[in-house]
Amino acid sequence: MTMKKDNDTVFIGGDIYRQAAYGNNHPLTIPRVGPVMDVCRHMGWLDDDAYVESPQASREDLIRFHASAYVDAVIEVDQAGKSNAQLREIFGLGTQENPVFTGLYERAATSCGGSIHAAERVLNGGCAYNPAGGTHHGQPAKASGFCYFNDPVLSIYQFLDAGIARVLYLDLDAHHGDGVEDAFADDLRVGTLSIHEQDRWPHSGKTSDPSRNIWNFPVPQGFSDAELGFLMEAVVMPVHASFAPDAVVITCGADGLAGDPLSAMNLSNVALWSAVECVRDATLRTVVLGGGGYNPWTVTRCWAGLWAVLAGYDVHKPLLGAAAAMFSEFESDLVDEEDVVPAWCTTIADIPVETAVRPAVERLAAQRAA
Ligand SMILES: [Zn+2]
Repeated sequence: MTMKKDNDTVFIGGDIYRQAAYGNNHPLTIPRVGPVMDVCRHMGWLDDDAYVESPQASREDLIRFHASAYVDAVIEVDQAGKSNAQLREIFGLGTQENPVFTGLYERAATSCGGSIHAAERVLNGGCAYNPAGGTHHGQPAKASGFCYFNDPVLSIYQFLDAGIARVLYLDLDAHHGDGVEDAFADDLRVGTLSIHEQDRWPHSGKTSDPSRNIWNFPVPQGFSDAELGFLMEAVVMPVHASFAPDAVVITCGADGLAGDPLSAMNLSNVALWSAVECVRDATLRTVVLGGGGYNPWTVTRCWAGLWAVLAGYDVHKPLLGAAAAMFSEFESDLVDEEDVVPAWCTTIADIPVETAVRPAVERLAAQRAA
């Protein structure tokens, strides 16, 4: 049975994300947004009236945050099909981490266009979901951590420029949302809250500075559903209540899930969904973005299911024929075949494993309260 769909919830996607990207030897070579759109359609969760084709951000849009020389350099390496020593050194373009590939500029600018449009779309209330967004490591004049531009920053600016007074940024990716924190560190209209795995790249986000509206929670390996639930109740929702944002932008990276090859957190997708849903329900205007996620099975299930939850569909129905077939055809250089859990090909929702909240996580909340 298909349940009610909220009309004020839109999915922003694009066929550009189906094109090969990042070269062959990169964690992001796997398709992500294309399969998420396909699964949602196969499952009957994505009507045409809820789907918006992502616009591409203009150069003008991008320089709201990025240096114009940097934007021009991205265009230049894209057109040349390669970087050079100088552009690599100055702008981080053409490195192993941020390679040059065909369609780079259009793809990166489209993920920004989607997040800018998402903010525009919900100015009068509602929720917009751009799973291609969440490039939270992008710097004003440098590519970093697989990110070329920073679409969460541009989405937040879109709200601020439209007169929205206070925006909370919530980052649930396994990595610290450094680019967004840095962008608004001195702007008291924006609060940034990041929950991320401790001792992991980019190694920032160790401390909070609530006087400047920065909240960081570096969590231990094995971070679990119970621990996320605990932090949501003990710190995230209290910060939300006291900051009283008029809009929230959420980066919901899927790399904190159990089975992700680039982190050692242990979340179920159900835990991430309920965290996002809880914040969405408490907020007038919500933009939900993707982020990291390097296991094709878990990232696709997470982001397809996140859409189902946001739009009010039954995420517990079993995967149907065409959708199930997609999962059985996924391949990954980073996930061993014997580690592919059979349920990843037959269900969308994980079965959460109940564990206790460890003292190290309780201490993080106590520091916040102190
Ligand atoms: Zn990440």
